[in-house]
Amino acid sequence: MLPKLTCYGGVGEIGGNKFLLEDRGAKVLLDFGAGFADGADYFDSSITPRAVNGAGDLFEFGLLPEIQGLYSKKSLQNTKIKHTEPEVDAVILSHYHWDHTGRIGLTDPKIPVYCGETTSLIHGAYSESTGSPLDGHAIRKFRTGDRFRIGPMEFVPIHVDHSIPGAYGFVVHTSGETLAYTGDFRFHGPAGSMTRDFIEVARSEKPSLLLTEGTRVSNESQETNLSEEAVQREATRMVKGTRSLVFSTFRGNDVDRINTFYQSCLASGRRLVVSMKMAILLEMLKADKRLRVPRVGNDVDVYLRRKKSGRLDDSDYFAWERPFVDSGVSAEQVRQRQGKVFLHLEAWNFPELIDIRPEKGGTYIHAATEAFNEEGEREESIIRNWIEHVGFRYSQLHASGHAPRKEVGELVEGIAAKKVVPVHTEHPCLFRAFDKSGRWTLELPKRGKPISLHS
Ligand SMILES: [Zn+2]
Ligand SMILES: [Zn+2]
Repeated sequence: MLPKLTCYGGVGEIGGNKFLLEDRGAKVLLDFGAGFADGADYFDSSITPRAVNGAGDLFEFGLLPEIQGLYSKKSLQNTKIKHTEPEVDAVILSHYHWDHTGRIGLTDPKIPVYCGETTSLIHGAYSESTGSPLDGHAIRKFRTGDRFRIGPMEFVPIHVDHSIPGAYGFVVHTSGETLAYTGDFRFHGPAGSMTRDFIEVARSEKPSLLLTEGTRVSNESQETNLSEEAVQREATRMVKGTRSLVFSTFRGNDVDRINTFYQSCLASGRRLVVSMKMAILLEMLKADKRLRVPRVGNDVDVYLRRKKSGRLDDSDYFAWERPFVDSGVSAEQVRQRQGKVFLHLEAWNFPELIDIRPEKGGTYIHAATEAFNEEGEREESIIRNWIEHVGFRYSQLHASGHAPRKEVGELVEGIAAKKVVPVHTEHPCLFRAFDKSGRWTLELPKRGKPISLHS
């Protein structure tokens, strides 16, 4: 049987990547993530899938593929699918974002997960703090330059620039044709040259099929493509122009953003104060010699939320949090030093502002994507209410983790595969406009329908 690719997620949607690659009896999943809108028509924060039904409530709405030999015993309890020994050989993970990892926790822990070395460190940090979907699985690590085999398939991981470190694309040589998969990528981050490396290597391996993301391939205006460097310049200007507290909401595992704000702090004589979760991530990433991250205690402090007794006692904190208590600053200390602090504060921690009681006139930087759905708009309006309540300036400042439309087109042209399959995009049809040369064909994926690697 010829090798084939089946897309079970990331089809006409941003995120939720789940691609099954089969070749002569070997089965491999490229990512196994949760879609951002997965089940939004049936579930919300109060109507949730029942744990007692394993993954059954997700199967009900076609939110998960019914693949034999993939799921754990627990995920299949009380469902119509019988648990069998694993028939899937591995999950190959492009990077540690929920829309690529989110459903791995439902798979049989006997299935190993292949990921980049940096991703394994990020997994370690989550594993110790909140838990990780990779928990219980054997982790096989790779770096750019490695090649590894699973059955008849040879995998070539190549780094790409994205809004989390340790992001990869892959070239896969099957027993027939060759496939290239981009994962998520951009060129405008500090490691933009890595995505150019990916194009170069992928092109030289002559793939017949390119599976590419297209998050920002849309008809909307794309005038603003801020680079991470531009975010740093603008943030530094804002911070220097503020006399009281600066605080910001941004994705806690976006290490580029942590470095950006750390640099803004150095330039303005402020101290970056991070959450416990960010502290353990920075601590873990110290082991990655190729990554530059600020050191907890030396370079950044840790915000101490009041818990349990409310007295900031050691015993109030989890074992993984305790090593950071010595580098901790309380709400009162933030208040005393507010002109000298840049605080990372997730929206769900905004009630801390009640303890901090910052003086009016500070700056809030919303350093995340702007709302793109109803739920996001609702959260944004709550954020704005808080900012107004404390009398701060609201500013939006963000560099996307994804390449804009034009650069996705350049990647497609650059890799020069014969067939292009757009995923991780709401507008796969718009890829048609990239085919100026007429050298490749566009195949729009359909959920659960196999695609041949031949052009
Ligand atoms: Zn993604
Ligand atoms: Zn991502």
